[in-house]
Amino acid sequence: MTLKVAIIGAGTSGLSCAIELEKQGISPVIFECNDFIGEYHSHVSAFLGLITRPVADPIVYINRDLGIKLKPLNRFRKVIHYSPNNQTVVSGPLGYFMIRGREEISVKNQLYAQIKSHVHFGSFVQPEDLENEFDHIVVADGQWTIPARYGIWQEMMRTWLKGGIFEGDFEDDTLHMWLDKELTNGAYIYLAPYSKNKAVIAQIVQNIEHAELNDYWYRFLSSRDILKKYNLLETWELPHHAGSVTTNKLNKMYFIGASGGGAEPFLGFGQFNAIVAGVMAAKSIATGADMNFLMKDLTKKGQQMADFRSLMNSATNKDFDHLLTFMKTPGLRSLIYKTDINILDILAKGLSFMPSRNKGDILQSRGGK
Ligand SMILES: Cc1cc2nc3c(=O)[nH]c(=O)nc-3n(C[C@H](O)[C@H](O)[C@H](O)COP(=O)(O)OP(=O)(O)OC[C@H]3O[C@@H](n4cnc5c(N)ncnc54)[C@H](O)[C@@H]3O)c2cc1C
Repeated sequence: MTLKVAIIGAGTSGLSCAIELEKQGISPVIFECNDFIGEYHSHVSAFLGLITRPVADPIVYINRDLGIKLKPLNRFRKVIHYSPNNQTVVSGPLGYFMIRGREEISVKNQLYAQIKSHVHFGSFVQPEDLENEFDHIVVADGQWTIPARYGIWQEMMRTWLKGGIFEGDFEDDTLHMWLDKELTNGAYIYLAPYSKNKAVIAQIVQNIEHAELNDYWYRFLSSRDILKKYNLLETWELPHHAGSVTTNKLNKMYFIGASGGGAEPFLGFGQFNAIVAGVMAAKSIATGADMNFLMKDLTKKGQQMADFRSLMNSATNKDFDHLLTFMKTPGLRSLIYKTDINILDILAKGLSFMPSRNKGDILQSRGGK
């Protein structure tokens, strides 16, 4: 008997799931609320090797190990970290820039080009609408609302994000990241280039109301003279929540991508996890393998990231300055970025010497002894 599988959302995780289901001989029915593939607003996102550890090269892993074709916009070879009174540069093959939006090379359009299954565009659906008709329902809508309604969602990071596209002179292989409590409430700001003359700057601010976002944005722009250096073309705003789920499978439902707790709570990155979770859900559906078992490595990584997020939440600007000094320790930068050692253990050690905290607090917050 052919399995009837519905996927809610033709996004990163849903399309990855469809690619693997088709390889397993199953044609899913995909429901997408928008009438297009991609995001309303174009921007540049990052695959950071440091976040995808122990997978050192996420693009090689996706292409070779998952059998999904994905090309980056560019490789980045430099990350410049800024704290209020400090700066550190790390160089090496650190990750990839990816296009998000409606462009042909956007992540979602590259995935969409690899499926044959039909996408029902303009179809906003909920699992309850589908449960009589389908054997399996894959929740891949990128939201926290369905897992929250089923009581399996644990929120870890609630942010508003404001992005702007700028014209100017940029290094197209360099990611910039700002850590400043006053400007982000413990989250961060990044600059990622499309090219040498166009870049996106996104400011992620934790635990604020939407009405406060513009104030944070203009404070950042003026404190870093951004409008004097670059020409602002357009802006956009989005809410972004990261959390975990207590299970990735409930009754007929598989929770993947952001709705499966796949957006890690340290930086809110989730594209790599969304692709992996999509493939795992398809394997679980096709073979009957236990979904939570297939997800165990991602789940463990998410928990480590949550621990690190709570350390970052309690850090002060002085601590961020101190952390960047710690990252300048000879040999440490390349150790952090270029090997598969656990970044959390090393950075947590750096934070454990923070001026505002003592080691006991840190170990306690990480559940250590
Ligand atoms: C602005 C921004 C920047 C980011 N930057 C990065 C980054 O640099 N690196 C990184 O790794 N991660 C980043 N992330 C996180 C990452 O994008 C997500 O974690 C990941 O894309 C989630 O994939 P998904 O499949 O769960 O959801 P999505 O890829 O968002 O797909 C969900 C799809 O479901 C559709 N949908 C929603 N509700 C319904 C419904 N009820 N019925 C039908 N269709 C529905 C949506 O229209 C959408 O197409 C960023 C997120 C945001 C918002």
